[in-house]
Amino acid sequence: MRRLALSFLLSLAMAPALAEIDRTLDAQLARLVLMAYDRPQAALRSLRELAPNQPLAQAQLAMAEGQILVQGGDTGAARKLVERLAAAEKTRDRAAVLSAQLAARDGLNSLATETAQQALRGLERRCERGAEAASIARGCDFRSVWAALRIIERDQAAQGALAQAAGTLRYALALAEAGGDSYLSAISMGALALLSQELDQGDEARRWLAAALERAGDDALAMARTKITEARIAVRRGDKPGQLRAYEEALAFAQQAESPRLVAQVQTNLTDLHMHNGRPALALALARQALPVLLRHKDLRIERTLRHNMAVSMILLRKFDAARRELARAQALTDGQTEPARRANQLREIGEAWAAAGQPREAIAVFHTERALSAMIQARNREAQLQELRLKYDSDRAQRDLDLLTRDKTLKDQQLANRDLAQRVGIAVGTLLALSLLLAGVMLKRVQAANKRLKANQLLLRAQSERDPLTDLANRRHFQAVMSQRAQHKFQGALLMVDIDHFKHVNDRHGHAAGDIVICEVARRITQAVRHEDLVVRWGGEEFLVYAPEVAQDQLQLLAERILFSVGTEPVATEAGPLRVTVSIGHARFPLPPGHLALDWEQAVNWADMALYTAKAQGRNRAVGIAGVDAADVHALQQIEADFDAACSAQRVSLRHTIGPHGR
Ligand code: GH3
Ligand code: MG
Ligand code: MG
Repeated sequence: MRRLALSFLLSLAMAPALAEIDRTLDAQLARLVLMAYDRPQAALRSLRELAPNQPLAQAQLAMAEGQILVQGGDTGAARKLVERLAAAEKTRDRAAVLSAQLAARDGLNSLATETAQQALRGLERRCERGAEAASIARGCDFRSVWAALRIIERDQAAQGALAQAAGTLRYALALAEAGGDSYLSAISMGALALLSQELDQGDEARRWLAAALERAGDDALAMARTKITEARIAVRRGDKPGQLRAYEEALAFAQQAESPRLVAQVQTNLTDLHMHNGRPALALALARQALPVLLRHKDLRIERTLRHNMAVSMILLRKFDAARRELARAQALTDGQTEPARRANQLREIGEAWAAAGQPREAIAVFHTERALSAMIQARNREAQLQELRLKYDSDRAQRDLDLLTRDKTLKDQQLANRDLAQRVGIAVGTLLALSLLLAGVMLKRVQAANKRLKANQLLLRAQSERDPLTDLANRRHFQAVMSQRAQHKFQGALLMVDIDHFKHVNDRHGHAAGDIVICEVARRITQAVRHEDLVVRWGGEEFLVYAPEVAQDQLQLLAERILFSVGTEPVATEAGPLRVTVSIGHARFPLPPGHLALDWEQAVNWADMALYTAKAQGRNRAVGIAGVDAADVHALQQIEADFDAACSAQRVSLRHTIGPHGR
């Protein structure tokens, strides 16, 4: 083999271009590759007897050898061949196809797809879509392209991109038809039939299946594979008799094609069918025929399924010891190899069998394992959903930032343009004072219009930059802007500082995305609870400030109560389920009674914050309001601020308490 590969590489070095493909040889090689499914050694021997004259055919031979090695399960030798083929520029893409097939064999689906796509990018240069026949005449290696397309199509179908998968298959079919390979055509049509069924297009499925059977004709191997497809379509239609009939026909064709390995595969499918339909003895008998063949071919993937079916049948036949041994063997083959959802399904089957055989202890043990696995799968799915949600939130935020930046840039551009315009107006007025008075008037108008637009944009920009993107509330910057616009320095009105209780737990237990949802909902509920004239600000992470410019003292306490109940009465619906959320509130009305001493707004916020701190310390889900302070001057007020707790204890501050809703 090494000699073969070496001479092939040498021949490549001498070859002018990898153009022509020897079609007779191509058909011979395709047969050998099919033969390799059962007899890889014989196929290899025959391959070596085909000594092609033209050096160019060496590439075809090497590719066929790779396919034979993959089919026969000699992955070590296949990998070595891939390495050698990948080293030469002209066979790199075909090497990638083999490499993708190896990855698919090992269940590494995304790697397989990536590699197949990479191969396709190179190979497709010679294979024009829609002009397949002409492309093949010009040297398109349709078999390699077909193999790559099949891998890509399987992945598309597995991802649920069924229409896309159908498109890929149609291209594969066109290549097979143009290449005159009825086996590949039949397989492509069968796959299209299955896809159509998945797409709920029953008539289309029937048409493709009929076409596939016709194309398979008297090729027993193609018929066997198409019948397997027919059985799979019958499963999806819920047609059990049809399924059984198709599998039995597939079995007969596989025997006729002298493919014991395919016979064993169909037998494995039949064991499943019999086992599920109250015929465990028949299932077991078939399994015993299939097992030695699978062992001989080291076909681990099918062996795993077969051993599972055997174990379940044995349980149903009350052969408990044998069943336990078989379960252990199946488990050893399954570890880390079987997709979790499929494994959970298998465990359910085993548990149900134990229960049906009157073995509750065993059944319960298996159900426990199954439940743990299902919980893991669910948690994983939930995590994936949250991740998706988070990405959505992040991208929304990024989009807003981007919008802001774009607006900022437009604004600056406009400013520059404006300045330019003003300059031009000046020049016009100066030099052509008499003649261009009219013109200057027009231009001035434009300047005014531009200035007006500029002002509107500035306002818009400010409004945007003063808005919190998550909750759409005003942000701290906006509150500061409002405060700085007020004429008097003394702060007047009421402030309520609202903070979500134990919010960190929400993030920790249910994820940041759920946390974001809670913040938004709390923002909405607070906004609902306050009056039209009140301003709600997102002050920080999970803190909100409500500014009520005109509210009486007793009304203020009612407002706080409305917020407590509006937030805390109904749980918040999140992806993680309903969550009960409460808030704590600190509030005060300024100037503080009875002394009515002047405070600036920053100090006022600090007083509301101190009251909030007291509400938290007293157990949360409550509001604490400052009704009065015993302070004769600003200095006394500062003393109270310096140690608020002590001042409260000394009753220099009188507080009002409001308790939030009880938990449900
Ligand atoms: P307490 O109510 O008793 O004060 O406890 P707490 O956990 O609510 O308070 P703490 O201030 O310790 O935690 C607030 C957490 O809020 C910390 C921070 O990670 C989180 N946080 C801040 N901003 C956001 C945000 O925009 N989204 C989410 N999901 N979490 C945020
Ligand atoms: Mg908090
Ligand atoms: Mg906080």
